Amino acid sequence: MDFNDTPDEAAFRSEVSQWLMQNAPEFTITADTKEQEFVAKAKAWQAKKAEAGYAGIRLPKDVGGRAGSEMESILFDTEEGKYELPLGPVVGIGQSMAIPVIRKHGTEDQLKRFAEPTLKGDITWCQLFSEPAAGSDLAGLRTKAVKDGDEWVVNGQKVWSSWAHHADWGILLARTDPTVAKHKGLTFFLIDMKSPGIDIRPIRQISGESDFNETFMTDVRIPDKYRIGEVGEGWACAMTVLTSERLSSAELKESESVDYLIELAAQTPGDRGTALDNDCVRERLAYWYSLEQGQKNFHLRMLTKLSQGSGPGAEASLLKLVYAQRLQQSAGFGMEIQGLSGLATSPSDHAAEEMQKTYIWSTAMRVAGGADEVLLNQIAERVLGMPGEMRGDKNIPFNELA
Ligand SMILES: Cc1cc2nc3c(=O)[nH]c(=O)nc-3n(C[C@H](O)[C@H](O)[C@H](O)COP(=O)(O)OP(=O)(O)OC[C@H]3O[C@@H](n4cnc5c(N)ncnc54)[C@H](O)[C@@H]3O)c2cc1C
Repeated sequence: MDFNDTPDEAAFRSEVSQWLMQNAPEFTITADTKEQEFVAKAKAWQAKKAEAGYAGIRLPKDVGGRAGSEMESILFDTEEGKYELPLGPVVGIGQSMAIPVIRKHGTEDQLKRFAEPTLKGDITWCQLFSEPAAGSDLAGLRTKAVKDGDEWVVNGQKVWSSWAHHADWGILLARTDPTVAKHKGLTFFLIDMKSPGIDIRPIRQISGESDFNETFMTDVRIPDKYRIGEVGEGWACAMTVLTSERLSSAELKESESVDYLIELAAQTPGDRGTALDNDCVRERLAYWYSLEQGQKNFHLRMLTKLSQGSGPGAEASLLKLVYAQRLQQSAGFGMEIQGLSGLATSPSDHAAEEMQKTYIWSTAMRVAGGADEVLLNQIAERVLGMPGEMRGDKNIPFNELA
């Protein structure tokens, strides 16, 4: 395939693709891989990448990274995406959320303590932001942290904590000052998930699996050295995490790409030849293909901005919005063109099963990391400069809100 690579990029791609060919097959997973095995393999794959200098490609060498370029990181992800590897949140949260927030708001000691073990897969992370009454309105969260000497005492409940039941550490947003407006009274912490007082209760999903948890914290003590940023700087830290989460959500897996759907259409029998010979099918594929290309180019622009030191901020919302909507439509269509076998999949029909999984995942992605409507609000207000939503709680101390 012609990737339009520069000579340096082509050399790096070829080096990576050879390394993957030699090392990735041992770590690949299938639909039958059980959760414990998945986690073990995810950590082992992370360690393998770290050993070869491919974990944290953009991070400085002294924290275990490669000090490589944005483009090298993208090239690696693209080549890695060609294999069915255990890459989910169990290792992803550490890399796309914990390390960026520690790097931007934490101290050098904190980065040294956590970055390298995270890159090696020795430490896994979960995100403790959402609460039963604080999802879209995250700044309304009620989990509180009260200072007691050199420690903070945390009480409260989080929900939808993905993979918390396998996490060693969590990134936690808690209220430290209820007497100021809701965004201003928050502080960011790293919390050892094995601390006394943490109770993790898996939520059983319709699939029978439990990717999420409720996390209860009762008098959990966090040493002050695990506070990230200043007291009251929690909202800025959370924005760093959410921006990074939205940027990383635009990194497509091979099975999520429109190319995959085009191949599927070419293999699916249609009224005349294959489904790909149908003009209506071609028109819709062309539309999603153009959206995907736009998303990829916009993603590159955001990463370039980031590498030049200016955070993309609210613009990153556009990526997640376009990605999740397109994925839901195109994966739904992928199931549709396969007729009944798209719905009633069998383990022997890998393509149909993959498309169905992608469809279900895309539905969750329209909510995870910011629901569509909330992202639209952010784009309207903070990118396009349109008038803000009515906010009755603005500038009112949190403890005076009803
Ligand atoms: C797959 C997945 C993984 C997740 N993992 C984690 C995790 O690891 N850690 C974590 O902390 N959280 C996690 N979450 C939670 C996620 O961040 C929240 O679900 C999300 O922020 C939405 O919050 P909510 O579910 O409370 O919905 P609500 O905020 O109650 O929203 C319900 C509906 O109301 C709409 N709405 C809300 N406010 C407005 C408004 N101002 N204007 C217009 N419409 C509005 C929303 O768009 C949505 O359609 C995960 C969610 C999913 C789906």
